[in-house]
Amino acid sequence: MDFPAHPNLTDAYLEGFGLTNGASVRLARPTSPEGVAKAFGLARKDNRRVVLRGGGRSYGDQSLLGEALAIDVSRMKSVFNWDTAEGLLDIQAGATLEDVWRFVLEDGWFLPVTPGTSRATLAGALASNVHGKNNLLAGTLGEWVEEIEVVLPDGSLRTVSKDDSRFWGFVGGLGLLGAIVRVKLRLKRVVSGEVDTVVRQVPDWDAQFAAFEEFAKADYTVSWVDGFSSGRGIFTAGWHVPVAEASTLRAEAQGISPAIGLFSKSEAWRVLQHLTSRSDMRVLSALRYRMGGFPTVQKSKRQTLAAFHYPLDYVPDWQRSYLPGGLVQFQAAVPRDEARRVFQKQLELCQKARMEPYLVVMKRHRPDCAMLPYLVDGYSLALDLHRILSREEDLRRLYAEMAEVAIAAGGRVYLTKDALLTPDQFSRCTPKGGLTRFRELKKEIDPDGLLTSAQNERLRIATVRR
Ligand SMILES: Cc1cc2nc3c(=O)[nH]c(=O)nc-3n(C[C@H](O)[C@H](O)[C@H](O)COP(=O)(O)OP(=O)(O)OC[C@H]3O[C@@H](n4cnc5c(N)ncnc54)[C@H](O)[C@@H]3O)c2cc1C
Repeated sequence: MDFPAHPNLTDAYLEGFGLTNGASVRLARPTSPEGVAKAFGLARKDNRRVVLRGGGRSYGDQSLLGEALAIDVSRMKSVFNWDTAEGLLDIQAGATLEDVWRFVLEDGWFLPVTPGTSRATLAGALASNVHGKNNLLAGTLGEWVEEIEVVLPDGSLRTVSKDDSRFWGFVGGLGLLGAIVRVKLRLKRVVSGEVDTVVRQVPDWDAQFAAFEEFAKADYTVSWVDGFSSGRGIFTAGWHVPVAEASTLRAEAQGISPAIGLFSKSEAWRVLQHLTSRSDMRVLSALRYRMGGFPTVQKSKRQTLAAFHYPLDYVPDWQRSYLPGGLVQFQAAVPRDEARRVFQKQLELCQKARMEPYLVVMKRHRPDCAMLPYLVDGYSLALDLHRILSREEDLRRLYAEMAEVAIAAGGRVYLTKDALLTPDQFSRCTPKGGLTRFRELKKEIDPDGLLTSAQNERLRIATVRR
């Protein structure tokens, strides 16, 4: 297949998903590996550094760098091969997860691992080695990839298969080694486009952990935690519907409604913007908890795969309701035996600072394979914190305290969500062996440090002096 090699350059202002970080860049939107290689060459000529950009769903400064040349791969979506018998998809890495599930579902396949947004590209999702609500059983997205193609900063195109020792540097490497441009991904067999769920109100931390243990074999488990409480929330377990229902496999049947109540979806964030004070959120959280039913009652519900996995995609631009400050998300995975104590402490710290998280999500995890791993055998808590401009320093302090509690317990901070970690905290929560190998690889592949990001410069993950 032939694609133009022109990288299509413009000036642009890019932001992280949390709207706390932004950067003016020279933007390249190539459609081919040749276009990506050409963009690397132009950056060298222009004496600019390069940052890689996918769907812009990472929260902070991962896909940003002021004055850099940003290579955005999101126009690269072509399918090279689709083996419907084996469920093996060969596709350009700029395809979003939504592009993928819409394409394969009708043939009885779905994403084996998916984050809570389908707007991420495969390239960005692999650079973060994302996980889903089935992390304990299915691992991370990288574990389902047979092979990737990457354009290195010198412009050369390389195929990197799973058994190549560099694979887990590119996957989970936050775009610091090369641009992923093509992916061979194994999909998961499904016979229905729906999920059966049980939804249970859980009154405290003990009940939260007990529910995760009880449903450890479910296809999916996740819990919402009331950030104003001492651990109460609503736990959900889900199973793929095992009965063949061809009509539910049509992408249209996954339908996302165009309106929410009286409001059009595209305007919903404007309404939400008036509900982001602490007192509103306290009331809304309590209401949400009550709607979960009584602790002993368990509700059963059948949902489409899209509604189950991507509830936040239903409200476009919901993150804008946090403006003008935006939101910072903190997510750390903590070893199983320490999780209860750490999560309780983290919520207490938020409450003491009067900066309660407006959305808190708890998940069960197993360790991941990347050179820069972020998961452990345990649990993670993801907390959305409203960035109030007049309380910037308080937020920084709170974030640092939450990170310290997690790191002291052997936890790891998830870098794709981060905006405020310090270099010292990063190096203390990253295993030395993997980090050393990653830095060696960086020196070998990108000796003059062409490829970087604002997060890399902030945390000194693998920086090269120029
Ligand atoms: C609502 C929401 C829910 C989420 N839920 C989850 C979840 O449940 N689990 C989870 O794991 N994550 C979750 N995330 C995080 C998200 O999945 C990751 O941040 C993902 O990396 C975003 O991909 P992207 O395409 O938007 O990439 P971007 O945000 O644009 O970039 C992310 C990283 O990928 C790098 N990159 C971009 N393109 C390339 C390329 N071609 N080659 C190599 N590197 C590249 C960038 O430099 C950057 O470091 C969620 C995010 C949102 C907004």
